[in-house]
Amino acid sequence: MNSSQLLARNARKYPNREAVVCMGKRTTYKELDQLVNRLAHALIGEGIQKGSKVALFLPNVEEFVISYFAVQRIGAVVVPINVKLTTEELEYILDHSDADALIAHEMVFDTVKQLQAPSLLIKTGKPQDNFLSFESLIDNAEDASFPCLLKEDDESTILYTSGTTGKPKGVLFSYRNILTVATMIAVEMEVKPESRMLLMMPLSHSAPLHLFLMAGILVGSTLVITPTFTPDLLIETVEKEKTTHFFGAPVAYLLTVDNPRLKTADLSSMKWWIYGGAPLSANEVRMVKQAFRTDNICCVYGLTEAGPSGSLLLAEEHDAKAGSIGKRAPLHTELRIVDDQGEDVQPGEVGEIVLLGEGNMIGYYKDDEATKETFIGEWLKTGDLGRFDEDGYIWIVDRKKDLIISGGVNVYPKEIEEVILQFPNVTEVAVVGVPHVEWGETVKAVFAAKSPIDVDELKDFLSAHLAKFKVPRLYEQVDALPRNASGKILKQPLREGVAVK
Ligand code: ATP
Repeated sequence: MNSSQLLARNARKYPNREAVVCMGKRTTYKELDQLVNRLAHALIGEGIQKGSKVALFLPNVEEFVISYFAVQRIGAVVVPINVKLTTEELEYILDHSDADALIAHEMVFDTVKQLQAPSLLIKTGKPQDNFLSFESLIDNAEDASFPCLLKEDDESTILYTSGTTGKPKGVLFSYRNILTVATMIAVEMEVKPESRMLLMMPLSHSAPLHLFLMAGILVGSTLVITPTFTPDLLIETVEKEKTTHFFGAPVAYLLTVDNPRLKTADLSSMKWWIYGGAPLSANEVRMVKQAFRTDNICCVYGLTEAGPSGSLLLAEEHDAKAGSIGKRAPLHTELRIVDDQGEDVQPGEVGEIVLLGEGNMIGYYKDDEATKETFIGEWLKTGDLGRFDEDGYIWIVDRKKDLIISGGVNVYPKEIEEVILQFPNVTEVAVVGVPHVEWGETVKAVFAAKSPIDVDELKDFLSAHLAKFKVPRLYEQVDALPRNASGKILKQPLREGVAVK
């Protein structure tokens, strides 16, 4: 079984069901399947074949879905790329992924118009410069269906990591990887043919793409897609399209909680509000549940390299365990917490989370060394430090790479961030280690707040809650913290350029 076959199956079983709703346009499964066949034939006509790499520089639009499945239908490897990247960053990925073709959207044409490679360049809208027109290619191609010769272990997708911790790496997936994690979500989040999946987070990221778009396609539900996210658009789309499942980064929920429209909006169609990709503290979970008037909130933890799939905190577990990432994802994932020697740590002790499962990537594209470093045998090292509590629930302590070692002592930024967030008017915070001549690193807090914060008062507050070595020495109030396209705080720029004596 592979993704493209599922689409053809849906076209046969639910020909007239809406497959994609985007910016007012509604496309049925039968129509979508035909568009996919046509684009696949057109790409073959332009020299694309099994094993070719086709990059997508498309926001969340219908053309993304058509292209994604057309590329896979041929057996070529699809490389979805985040449309917020600059031309230089895009060129790095096109070059590294050996892209044979690029399909771009008119909305982001400025970023791609100077490109000379790859040799096949396609854009939506009118043909321009070296770019062929997406629509003309489709209009002029035949729509005959394809025999399915692909196997589950064939290469299907390369997703580039967002680079929060270095140069982006190409994570290579098989169909089996993707369908495994999609199946888990479909089962756990009760995705049904009549479900309507609201996809507002960028489809170039693993969770929106593999967990939610694919879970929808797996069962034949409707994908409601928007090219951007705003709190107003979220509320409006839920009301108008009667969506049932939404996945958002924590920041998407936190930006929405104060929206006055939430109080009166009709959100009754929603079955599941799902968050993941970054933590929500117990306090924030309470805020979100109250503002969205729901108990149906679920946490997904994972990382691109694992599909992404790692653990789930179910709705009914939130009362007792909000702030935790739950227990291992059922169906296919094994999860352990190990010390530096790879031995299991005791409950309560901190170690690295490692994952074994069919969601785990094949490896990093063209980077055997990084792949080798990321696995212990078949177990994937997540780079996340965590501990089990006495009931077997997992609590993330921090990312290994974010750990601060000050004067030889481990300081976990997340613990400090959680306390700072309790200080009145603070809205977001990142605690980082900055170089220090004597101690190696010292602790710095960078935060945003609704009004100017008196640092001495903040320090007094922290000293009452934290041991002295954890209380930051340096403070900086900013308008907003830098975040990547999936809403994650970028800590690296906060560490750079500071040397403290
Ligand atoms: P890079 O790999 O370049 O650093 P990235 O951090 O954006 O980029 P992702 O695979 O998107 O890569 O992020 C995975 C990480 O996000 C996990 O390892 C974990 O640290 C964090 N994370 C994911 N889900 C959760 C969650 N529910 N709670 C807390 N942290 C989470």
